[in-house]
Amino acid sequence: MINQPPISQEALIAENIARVRARIAESAQRVGRAPQDVTLVAVSKTKPLDYVKIAYNLGIRDFGENRVQEALEKRAAFCPSDLHWHMIGHLQTNKAQKVFGSFSCIHSIDSLHVAEALQRAAEKKSQAAPMDMRQPVLLQVNVSGEASKEGMTPEETPAIARQILAFSHLDVQGLMTVAPLVDDPETVRPVFRSLRQLRDRLRDEVGDVSWDQLSMGMTDDYAVAIEEGATIVRVGRAIFGERVKQ
Ligand SMILES: *Cc1c(COP(=O)(O)O)cnc(C)c1O
Repeated sequence: MINQPPISQEALIAENIARVRARIAESAQRVGRAPQDVTLVAVSKTKPLDYVKIAYNLGIRDFGENRVQEALEKRAAFCPSDLHWHMIGHLQTNKAQKVFGSFSCIHSIDSLHVAEALQRAAEKKSQAAPMDMRQPVLLQVNVSGEASKEGMTPEETPAIARQILAFSHLDVQGLMTVAPLVDDPETVRPVFRSLRQLRDRLRDEVGDVSWDQLSMGMTDDYAVAIEEGATIVRVGRAIFGERVKQ
C-alpha cells in the first residue's frame, strides 16, 4: 500500500472555497444575476483562528461569528483593514456596549429590544466622546415560524422596522433569515422567497432606506437562496468542515 501524504488543512479549505465560489456563480447565473453581487461570508464559529487566516490568504474577506466573546477575541487577534467581521448570532442586550461598532454588520437584530440596546450603547459612547457612527444592521425575521428560531415575525416586521429606522446610530441595510433544517433544500425555497417579498413590501410601505441586503442561505441551501435573491450567504461547514458541537 502506498502512503499518500496527508492533505493539508490549507489544501482542503482552498478546494472547499473554490467549490463554493463555483456554485455561487452557477446559481447566480441561472437566474441572470452577477456572481459578484453575492457576498460570501465564511462562518468560522468554533474553528481556530488559523482557519480564518488560511481563508483570508485565499481571498475571503468576510467572516461570520455567532458568539460575541469568540468573535471579539478573534477580531482582536486578526483584523487586517480589509477584513470584515460579521455578527450573525443572537445578542444579549448586556453585550450591546461591546458589540456596537465592532462589526462590519450585525445580521441578528431579532427584536426592538436588541436594537434599542445598541442605540442606547451608542448614545452612551457618544456622550463620552461625540461620534456619529452608524452601525450597519440587518433585521432577522423568523419566516418559517419555528419556535426554536430567533427573529421577528413577518407580520410585526414593518412596525418594528419603522421604530428602528428612527434610531440615529443604526444603519438598517436589509433582512436576514435562517431557514429550517431539511434534507431537500427545495423545501425551503418558499422561506427565501417570502423574505424577498417582505423586503419588497418594506421598500414600498416603509421605505426610508434601500433594504438592499438579503442575508440568507447556509451550507445546505445557499444555492437556492441565491436563486431567490440572496445578496449575502453565510457558509460555514462547506468551507471549514463539520463542527464538532456547539
Ligand atoms: C452557523 C451559522 C451559519 C453557517 O451554517 P453552516 O450550515 O455551517 O453553513 C449561518 N448562519 C447562522 C446564523 C449560523 O449560526
